[in-house]
Amino acid sequence: MGKTVSGSDMPCPSHHPDEGLVMDYATGAACEAGSLILASHMTLCPRCRSLAEACDVVGGSLLAEIEPEPVSKRCLLAVLAGIGDRRGAASDPARPRPPADIVLPAPLRNHLGTDLNGVAWRRVMPGIEEAHVPTCGGRFKGRLMRIAAGVAVPRHTHDGVEMTLVLAGGFSDEHGRYYRGDLSVSGPEIDHAPVVDADGECVCFVATDGPMKLTGPVARLFSRFIRF
Ligand SMILES: [Zn+2]
Repeated sequence: MGKTVSGSDMPCPSHHPDEGLVMDYATGAACEAGSLILASHMTLCPRCRSLAEACDVVGGSLLAEIEPEPVSKRCLLAVLAGIGDRRGAASDPARPRPPADIVLPAPLRNHLGTDLNGVAWRRVMPGIEEAHVPTCGGRFKGRLMRIAAGVAVPRHTHDGVEMTLVLAGGFSDEHGRYYRGDLSVSGPEIDHAPVVDADGECVCFVATDGPMKLTGPVARLFSRFIRF
């Protein structure tokens, strides 16, 4: 393979979230981890960014046509407080601005307050490390994963949805090849064993709303030691 890890000359990603997920993001219905991974994808994907902007325009014009309803002061204050939370803490000015970095997209970098070098990795198994991405609850949980060149992730499926955004390097599974900016969305119907490309490590941002379920021949052995 051999695509570059990052840079402004990167081609548009090939794998995208479906329109429902983009709409959830644009309308503020996505949780914090869901918003973070979608916002990170959109910084690398002009196509989905345009779609989200179109949703904003449509939503805005629909709101403009709705007859105003009187609301209580308490309701108004709750709405105003929620506006500040939209799309997570990516725009929180209180968070320290990290140095320029080319691996973590700006929404994720701003949320973590660090670039990739400041991430505290935890070894999951040989060749696979992960780091929790803290969020304030919500449907999805986020984590960064760093997988060494050539390593195969144990075959697995998911109890819920797993969204995987490639940030560096690449991997492939039975359903395609994924590079920086590509977003893989897998549900319970997907049983796969991703393999990282042989020429470099792969860094991904993963958001899941259910546990991974190992399904391969050594699943029982691994599941005693691995908690993804
Ligand atoms: Zn996209």
